[in-house]
Amino acid sequence: MKTARAAGPGMARADSWLQDGQLSLRETPLVLMYHGVADAPEDPNHLFVSPARFAEQMAWLHRRGLRGVSIAALVDAMRAGRQHGLVGITFDDGYVSVLETAVPELTRYGFGATAYIISGRLGGTNEWDEGPTWPLLSADGVRELAAAGVEIGSHAATHMRLAGVGPEHLSAEVHESRASLAALLGTEIRGFAYPYGSMDAAARRAVREAGYDHACAVEASKAEIGLMALPRIYVGQQDDAMRMAAKRLLYRGRIALRSRHGGRSPKTPAAQTR
Ligand SMILES: [Zn+2]
Repeated sequence: MKTARAAGPGMARADSWLQDGQLSLRETPLVLMYHGVADAPEDPNHLFVSPARFAEQMAWLHRRGLRGVSIAALVDAMRAGRQHGLVGITFDDGYVSVLETAVPELTRYGFGATAYIISGRLGGTNEWDEGPTWPLLSADGVRELAAAGVEIGSHAATHMRLAGVGPEHLSAEVHESRASLAALLGTEIRGFAYPYGSMDAAARRAVREAGYDHACAVEASKAEIGLMALPRIYVGQQDDAMRMAAKRLLYRGRIALRSRHGGRSPKTPAAQTR
């Protein structure tokens, strides 16, 4: 457990957020979940938004006076009580197109973002998905992404579902991926994102005990939401400015609704939890 952050009532509050269910809906930030940014004619898993659509979405944030930030920056701002107007931007899996296409667009607005990298698949592809596969960043590519100002977090070691797995798998996927990415970059790895959004209390505990400061889920109920399970909103090719506005307005209500049904929306397509 982290006990070093001891100063003041705000910090005590922030530490309570490390526990499940301790972040209220009002305090729950808006976090967007992307995978790749590229023109992908055949994309059955809905992993990609086109460069044009991504540019439109970033422009929409900017126009609304919102600022895209990494999750580490967002969590720091939450602890300081200054999260108003900030939106977390995340990219799962570490596709090459994030470095090539998303970074220039983020830079245009001075936005930050976090990329969640699979430590055991550097330079590989998303072979865990059925359908077309796409190249993942190599070790050098991940370093380049970090050098471009994108926060690097862990997306586990092999991209396996973590709900229901035993302690050995949890340790390998959660603990070792953090150590491996830290060695690659020479920096501390603060963030984690559960592959497929798949997590349970044991997975959240493993992430906390591995020394991560925060973790992103996809869907999470009110009883689960805390710094170890920050819910995210899937953003896809269909999301024009109007849909972005609706998602922003409705996301807390959707969490509340889902929480009444045990935390998972039965209608969410599997493609939206990769
Ligand atoms: Zn993933």
